[in-house]
Amino acid sequence: MTVSYDITNFYNELVAHGLILPNGVKGAYGRGAVFEEIARAFNDLVSRIAKNDGAQEVMFPPVLPRALVEKMGYMDSFPQLAGSVHSFVGNDAAAREISERVHAGLRWEDMLEPTELMLVPAACYPVYPNFSGLLPGGGRLITVLNWVFRHEPSDEPTRLQSFRMREFIRMGQPDDVLAWRDEWLRRGLDLLQGLGLPAQSDVANDPFFGRTGKILAANQREQRLKFEIMVPVISLEKPTAVASFNWHQDHFSSLFGISNADSSVAHTACLGFGLERVTLALIKAHGFDPKTWPEEVRGQLWP
Ligand code: AMP
Ligand code: ZN
Repeated sequence: MTVSYDITNFYNELVAHGLILPNGVKGAYGRGAVFEEIARAFNDLVSRIAKNDGAQEVMFPPVLPRALVEKMGYMDSFPQLAGSVHSFVGNDAAAREISERVHAGLRWEDMLEPTELMLVPAACYPVYPNFSGLLPGGGRLITVLNWVFRHEPSDEPTRLQSFRMREFIRMGQPDDVLAWRDEWLRRGLDLLQGLGLPAQSDVANDPFFGRTGKILAANQREQRLKFEIMVPVISLEKPTAVASFNWHQDHFSSLFGISNADSSVAHTACLGFGLERVTLALIKAHGFDPKTWPEEVRGQLWP
């Protein structure tokens, strides 16, 4: 079977099979039952693989304090991706005016005020502030699943504005943290290749904003701080990143005073699987109906 890579066709087929449910806004489609079944099965498979690691599971809402976004430097590096929650706090007259403007087809959003909340820009962001102080000997391992917002509207079904990341976060001694990140990169490749995906890993960088961002991105690559696992989904030449493996060194631990048991500054690293992207990669590789997927793939996802 020769695989072709056509964004519009793939999107239309996903819609025709009820896998995605468009709502008129780019990168904000709904997910059908079968799509969800695949995403859930993959997430559960990750949980089974990581079971003996003993990660502590936490859960956060898809919003986080504005002050935390500021403190973590997101507005310095990625202002173009951020999403902010605004609400109405006016009086009766202002409420009437909003309603009138809505019905007259006029803009009304300037009558909203910023709240204390923003949308979560990466699943691990709400985690770090909870672990200020001394880590236990051996450090910590956390896992979290959350909805993430990024303002990058696109016609590519693989580039969403709202999507889910399954993350693991490791905090501890620099050597342990780096070794953990590298081991998970191998594990992630084994996992995805074992599911019949043509997955490859490579050094990567985050989409830092603007001219200074180019320098930050080059530094990040040079120091090999970020790796991605990529699979061709909508293009052979530009494969899609389905998982990321990030070594933050002491960036977050310094901000939140996270220290090792011996009081040295801890390092942190995180890895994230993009659940929608993995789901779409599996669909691209094996077809629109999981009932017809190879038995060895089904057996792992639905044991
Ligand atoms: P990042 O924090 O950018 O490394 O993203 C972590 C993972 O989330 C990536 O490896 C992707 O699998 C996924 N991801 C990132 N951006 C998007 C997006 N716009 N739409 C869907 N998935 C994404
Ligand atoms: Zn992370």
